[in-house]
Order: sequence, then C-alpha cells, then structure tokens
Amino acid sequence: MNIKGIPGAPGIGIGTASVLNKDLNIPRFAFKNAEEELNRLSDALEESKKQVTLLKERALKNSHKDVADIMEAHLMMLDDPEFLGKVKQSIQEEKLNAEFAVWSVAQEYIETFEKMTDEYIKARAADLKDVAERIIRNLTGTLVDLSDLPEGTILVARDLAPSDTAQIDRDHVVGLVTDEGGPTSHVAIMARSFQIPAVVGTKTATQNIKNGDKLVVDGSEGIVEISPEKHVLEAYEKKLSGWKHEQEELSELITVPAITKDGTKVKLEANIGRPEDVETALKFGAEGVGLFRTEFLFMDRSSLPTEDEQFEAYRKALEGMKGKTVTIRTLDVGGDKDLPYLGLERENNPFLGWRAIRYCLDRKDVFKTQLRAILRASAYGNAAIMFPMISSVEEVIEAKKVLKEAQEELKKENVPFDEHISVGIMVEIPSAAVAADLLAPEVDFFSIGTNDLTQYTLAVDRDNQKVRDYYNPLHPGVLRLIKRVIEVGESTGKEVAMCGELAGDDKATEILLGLGLRVFSMTSSSIPRVKKVVISSQKEQSQKVAKEAARL
Ligand code: PEP
Ligand code: MG
Repeated sequence: MNIKGIPGAPGIGIGTASVLNKDLNIPRFAFKNAEEELNRLSDALEESKKQVTLLKERALKNSHKDVADIMEAHLMMLDDPEFLGKVKQSIQEEKLNAEFAVWSVAQEYIETFEKMTDEYIKARAADLKDVAERIIRNLTGTLVDLSDLPEGTILVARDLAPSDTAQIDRDHVVGLVTDEGGPTSHVAIMARSFQIPAVVGTKTATQNIKNGDKLVVDGSEGIVEISPEKHVLEAYEKKLSGWKHEQEELSELITVPAITKDGTKVKLEANIGRPEDVETALKFGAEGVGLFRTEFLFMDRSSLPTEDEQFEAYRKALEGMKGKTVTIRTLDVGGDKDLPYLGLERENNPFLGWRAIRYCLDRKDVFKTQLRAILRASAYGNAAIMFPMISSVEEVIEAKKVLKEAQEELKKENVPFDEHISVGIMVEIPSAAVAADLLAPEVDFFSIGTNDLTQYTLAVDRDNQKVRDYYNPLHPGVLRLIKRVIEVGESTGKEVAMCGELAGDDKATEILLGLGLRVFSMTSSSIPRVKKVVISSQKEQSQKVAKEAARL
C-alpha cells in the first residue's frame, strides 16, 4: 500500500522503518515467573547503560560538556541500588510487571523531588523521568535513539521537533516521514538541508507503518510506499538512480557563474543551521551564507550556549566560508521553535507571540551575549548581522542599541571585531514590507523571509495541514509585498535578498528575477537547480512572467 503526504525534501529513500513513538505506553500485565521479569529488567538496564554511555561519549567528543554531565547523572541512576532495589521488590512482592514497577517506583521519587525547593533536586526529577522512560522503552522495544539509528533507517514520527531532527545522523537516515508538518515546517527545512528525502503531513504514517517495514520515501512526489511489491520497488530503484544521475548533471553547474542570458549577475547563497553546513554550502557553489539560523546552536542541549561556545561556532562558519559573507541571524526562538530550558510559557498564538526579536529585546542578557559572540567572530571573516521578526522601526533602533553596547564593551576590552559590520533585518512580517521605506534608513540590507511572510500575509499557519492549500507564497498579495521591498531596495540602494523557502524553489525563480530579486539564499542542495533557471533566463521574459503572476 502507499500513503500520500506533502513533499518535504526531494529525492528517493529506500530503507527500513523506525517508528518514533513519543507517547509513552506503560503496559500492565500479569506474569507467572518473577525470575523472567527480573531478567527482562536486567537486560533493559544493560541496554540503557550502553545507550547512555554512547550519548555521553558523543557529547564529550562534540565538546558538549553539560550534556555529558547529564548523561553521567543518568548512568548513576541506572546503577542506583536504592531505586533498583525498590523496583525489584515491586516485581517480586507486588507482582508488578517490570515496566509498571519501574514507572511506579520512579513516580514516587519524582513526586518527592518535585516538591523540593532546591532547583538541583528538582532537576533530578526530570532526569529520573528521562531514565525511567528509557528503561521502559527498552522493555517495550519502543526506544528510538535518534542520534544512533542504524544505516538505512527511515524515521517515521507523528512530528519531529527541530531538536529531534538536529540529533539525526545524516549518514544513517535515508528518509523521514511525519504525520504532521508542511512544506515550510522546520522538519522539512532541515530535511532539505540534510539532503534527506522527506514526506511530511501524511496524517496517518504512524498508524500505518510498523517498525521494521520496508519503505520507499518519494520526497519529490510526497508518496510513501509501505512494504512495496517487487515491481514497485524495482521502479523506485530505477527512479533513485535517475535522481542520482540528475544530481550529477546539476553538479556540473556548480562552478558555472549565476548570470542570466542577458548578463545580469545573480547571487546564490546558502541557508545553514550549523557551522559544519558551510562545507555543503561550498560544495554546491554557494557565494555566501544568506541565513545562518543560529537557534540550532541553542537546541539539543539543556542550557544556553555560552558566549565562547557561540563565538567558536560563528568563527568556524566564517573561516569555513573563506571571506564570503556569512549572514548570522540572531536567535529566533518561540513560534514552533521551543527551547525547554528557556521556560517559554505556553501561548495561545505562539507564532504571534513572544518570539525572536521580541524575546531578545526582553532578554537583553541573552541577546547581548549572542551579539558579543558574533562581533568577536567578525574579526575572522565577512560577517553580517540580521534581526528576525522585525515589525517596526523601534525594534531595529532598540536592537542596534544593544549591538552598540556590545561594541563599546568589546572596544574597552580591546577585543578586535569588524567595526563596519553590516546590519540588516528579515522582512517576514507584512508591516515591515509595507513600511520598508521607513526601515531602510536604519538598515544595511533586507532579507525577505517568505515562510513567515506568507503565513502572516495570508493568515495561514505554515504548519497546519488543514489549511495547506491556502498557503501560497506566490499569492499576488505576497508577491506585491516582495515587489514593494525590492523597489524600496532599488530606490534606497539597500540590498534586498530572499532567504525564505521560495528562494530555493526553481519554479518561482523566473518570477522572482522578473520582480528584480538578485540575491537568493536557500538550502545548499537547491542552488544548482535554481542556477539552471537563472542561466537560461532573460530580463524581458522574466518581467512578463512576474507581471502575470502578480495579477493571478
Ligand atoms: C522565513 O520565515 O522565511 C525564514 C527564513 O525564517 P524561518 O523559516 O526560520 O522562520
Ligand atoms: Mg521566519
């Protein structure tokens, strides 16, 4: 059978399903032999220890000392004689099956810990919960360690948070399938950046797919084949080799300059989430980084990254890009990007809430730490700073004030930085597009974020499947806003780039060229495809297409 979803990231993946079950199921059943139950427990404990040791080693290797410390605490819990003694007792005396015994004993401790006022002990409650969940998942065979999946895995989940996706080993995961999410959800964006074929928004994948099922993920068409028949599989194997062939053809364009047929120079840049991504960016011929989503540095960890940690990451990206621009966007949290340790409150409308620059302007300590790190790194390459979610001039002025403070501090400390660093803003809220002329004097450049600009202009949640047909970045309303920003850029001499997903959609390239866009930033792997359109386009034709599109 097959199920349909939304193309999340192009390509074909053929592999074996690992279904991520985030809802913890704690079975309760009667057993005859307590010895057997104790053996099950002991196996699950061994397995858990192995997994946690591996996570700890990996954390140490990647210099995530705080994560390693947490893993060490987990290892101690997995060996704790008092906790384990109570669990064993519950199995032997109360006849509780291992899963249930682990849960009820852990629950007792958790409740006690949570009542304490000491923050350290309170945090132990969360750790114990994590450990108990791991033991139970090992007992029930439902644990999927995303950072340690075997080769040829296709990960199936209801949804994947950006922090889940960030853990994935790109060499081992050949496909992603989710029930939720849309083409611009972060899971899709990350899959494209990791070049992992993905189908999102299937609604039913986790119901229809079992662990171990053979799967084909057609991320270009949005189709998932479950246990395909031989002829279907063969057809996909053929398609996969065709896809690889096409990729090879496109790879020949990598060194070709992005100039239209009639000589207009276009700049094609990359969007990255981690400093290591610059390697891929350069591999695909990126002429710079138009968007470094720094929030990924803040994910997959239990506390804020320090100024030094951030500095190292930014420096790595800047040095990696060898003098090409790296546009570093300041922290864009909130919305669908939650960081548990920031303690963001649940909001009714998180996308309209306390996110991105709004968070940073309230948490100037967090903001300034990041700005200092970016400034320090700016001495090692060609950095630009970009503020997200700007809705009005005041926010830019306020953000620049904090930047100025950071600059003054560094000057006093005799720390070198680029004193002429470019400062720009994302245009992703309609008011910023409409009032671009008022913003222009305050910025060095604009970068249009079509993902949010579309959702806010059309009042369509970028992740809600029910309204996905309404989510159209080529809607004339959105195109007119884009046009407006480009015109303001032309009349004020400020560069206008685009870093939303539309910039990497080769079906939109002609229209965007026609509107006058000259700087496109996208998932690295999309660069050759977009370039193919650029080099065959001509001004007159593009303008005609753009004019028609803005009326449709
Ligand atoms: C956008 O909104 O278009 C954008 C590039 O930012 P993000 O996808 O990270 O919200
Ligand atoms: Mg955005």
